Amino acid sequence: MGQMGDLNRKNQEGYEEYLAGLDAQHLRRHLRVFDSPSGPVMTHQGRSFINFASNNYLGLNTHPAIKESAIEAINSFGVGSGASRLISGTLLPHQELEMALAQFKQTEAALTFSSGYAANSGIIPAMVGTQGQIFVDRLCHASVIDGCRLSRARLRVFQHNDPDHLRIQLAKRPANRPTLVVTEGVFSMDGDIAPLSELMEVAQHYEAALLVDDAHGTGVMGKHGRGTVEHFGIDPSGVFQMGTLSKALGTVGGYVVGSRPFIEYLINICRSFIYTTAPPPAFAAAARTALEIVQSDPGRRSTLWQNRNRLFQGLSGMGFTLTNTQSPILPVILNRPALALEMSKKLFNQGIYVPAIRPPTVPKGTSRLRVTVTSDHTPEHLDTALETFKKVGQELGII
Ligand SMILES: *Cc1c(COP(=O)(O)O)cnc(C)c1O
Repeated sequence: MGQMGDLNRKNQEGYEEYLAGLDAQHLRRHLRVFDSPSGPVMTHQGRSFINFASNNYLGLNTHPAIKESAIEAINSFGVGSGASRLISGTLLPHQELEMALAQFKQTEAALTFSSGYAANSGIIPAMVGTQGQIFVDRLCHASVIDGCRLSRARLRVFQHNDPDHLRIQLAKRPANRPTLVVTEGVFSMDGDIAPLSELMEVAQHYEAALLVDDAHGTGVMGKHGRGTVEHFGIDPSGVFQMGTLSKALGTVGGYVVGSRPFIEYLINICRSFIYTTAPPPAFAAAARTALEIVQSDPGRRSTLWQNRNRLFQGLSGMGFTLTNTQSPILPVILNRPALALEMSKKLFNQGIYVPAIRPPTVPKGTSRLRVTVTSDHTPEHLDTALETFKKVGQELGII
């Protein structure tokens, strides 16, 4: 990892040195500006390419009915919310969205946040204070880690998707402290699924609460798209679930669902809910319509899975090394950041956009191309991508 530059100097040179250090390790990141919506085909500087870099799994970000809901809400409720939720910022679309979310997730109540990041950074400290302890999967998302750090609770990391390691750690824990276990439903950078039933059993045995971050599971997993909890047939009243409206739901905002008293408690103490302006009503209205479509149009989910299976079989059949993925996230492991970057560039030059994911987003030595597929990709898009992967993979001596 790049050493922090001497930022105390707070001058141009300190920052430039830091960036040069990142460059030297192939770890520098840049913003790319696109001039089209996020979709299966995007345009950048006048060129179009097939996009495998979005979490818009069901293509809902451009769905006409969802856009229309946002426009209607702007006309009825304005653009900004004007205040935080507890002051005067709770507008009808917020309440309607939270009721719809609770119904969708089959829980008593729901609460929304401006982002999934904000949700995790507030919920976790609200659930476990300084006196508590948190056990978190090694591959959990940065927002989970930040929530854990903000709580100032005792933090322990268990091996990825390893309920036995969690059990060993819980057995050794200091007793009589509030205890929280956190995992993702579908892991964002590996695409594999947590063994939720086993984790839940271990957590229950040690009287720990289990929080599932289902950012990538919602809309994607389970017969009705309710997420990983539905996929495993787990009773939603036995776990806490959070997630985001920004991925399969195509809009923006975070949420948490649970019992009515739990949600009322968060409304009273969760800092990232309280001390920020309410998200715009248009996004709440749009997300509510997105939830309706996820439920009324299961065809999108089946196309998503067909596409996912076609691409997965194609890539693994060619000899690329994929993670143990069970989702529409198809990471191709290349290990070295320079190789991931080079392959990503070569693909981009041939009209295929797949981002290189490098440390610190993933552990050192596991740099990868993170391919995500959506229901809007056509069979032709997938075939073109597979041909290009084959060509570039052979050029680079990877396959
Ligand atoms: C994307 C993501 C988040 C953050 O959600 P945003 O709404 O984008 O802030 C949280 N957790 C996981 C696992 C994610 O992948």
